[in-house]
Amino acid sequence: MGEGRISGYLSVALGTLSVLAVLCFLFPDVLTTPSLRASYDLPLLRRLLAGGMIFSAAFGLLTFILGRQRRLGALGILLTLVATYLGGSSVPVGPRYDTPGFIGLDWFILDLLASAATYTALEKIVPHRRDQPILRPDFWHDGRYFIFNHLAIGIFLFVSVKLVPSLFSWSVNTDLQSWFRSLPGVMQFLAILVTADLMEYAIHRAMHEVPALWRFHAVHHSVERMDWVAGSRLHFLEPLVTRMAVMLPAFVLGASDTPLLCYIVWAGFQAGLVHSNFGLNFGPLKYLIATPQFHHWHHASDREAIDTNYAAHLPVLDRLFGTYHMPLDRWPKHYGVVGDPLPKGMLRQFFYPFQRKDPTPPPV
Ligand SMILES: [Zn+2]
Ligand SMILES: [Zn+2]
Repeated sequence: MGEGRISGYLSVALGTLSVLAVLCFLFPDVLTTPSLRASYDLPLLRRLLAGGMIFSAAFGLLTFILGRQRRLGALGILLTLVATYLGGSSVPVGPRYDTPGFIGLDWFILDLLASAATYTALEKIVPHRRDQPILRPDFWHDGRYFIFNHLAIGIFLFVSVKLVPSLFSWSVNTDLQSWFRSLPGVMQFLAILVTADLMEYAIHRAMHEVPALWRFHAVHHSVERMDWVAGSRLHFLEPLVTRMAVMLPAFVLGASDTPLLCYIVWAGFQAGLVHSNFGLNFGPLKYLIATPQFHHWHHASDREAIDTNYAAHLPVLDRLFGTYHMPLDRWPKHYGVVGDPLPKGMLRQFFYPFQRKDPTPPPV
């Protein structure tokens, strides 16, 4: 803050998000997610947008006063002016178009705000690596994965909401489903959590043990510095397959909406948490839920930890199947793939698994 760098970046980030948010208001059918759109509280969103613009301008001015990063301050103020020119927080909701698809720009903006605020606070309050800055090397590389994964939410929703029901309609048993729906919500939530994590465990382990699948999953393991953004680095096809598998038990069981929504929110939160640079010990909870220390060991390139800790939610699964590894007194020294490093860049990493060359052997 003393140099104006942090206030400058905050100004530019909030200014950019303000412009994008105004565009969401202007072109809702093209730029927003239908299932989210239906539940939006518009006055609240307008207040949020107004707050973002005020803070963007204020941080921009502060950057100017602090003096060393005036370009950042000017850019932040310019973006706020563009958002104001386009209509600001009182921009009318645009006309409806008959569009075949959409880009999840609203999901990107809202999740970025919530994730950045939550995880950055956790990482600053109890950091694991104190010397790791927020804008660490490869931050923008992983940031591009974060942006892409959010804008493409329509494809992921299609897989879990449309494709799973149409492919597995034969598996529906109405007696089983009405019995499951009669259970209390907490029981349903726990059942979804356990069955989803069993699927996750099986697929994750296969991705480590089958060389052709490892080439896809290696993209995720090429992360060398862990934080909440690093978890977004996934080959595009990986979340398509895992989300389908993870949602399958909930579909077969006919889970009620609220427990399913709770599971989706918890899974999203935990996915960011376990990758974050959050050094909390978690006490006895660490035996119950996957923590940053647990998943950091999964990403370790240290020999002792290769092919361990596959569970996404429940470490007990790794204990059950003999793949649990979590020395409590230390964290991994190094992260990343063992052997040949992966190419840099999203496009190169997308094509990496399809290249006809000797596959990188899975870690042994
Ligand atoms: Zn893995
Ligand atoms: Zn991971």
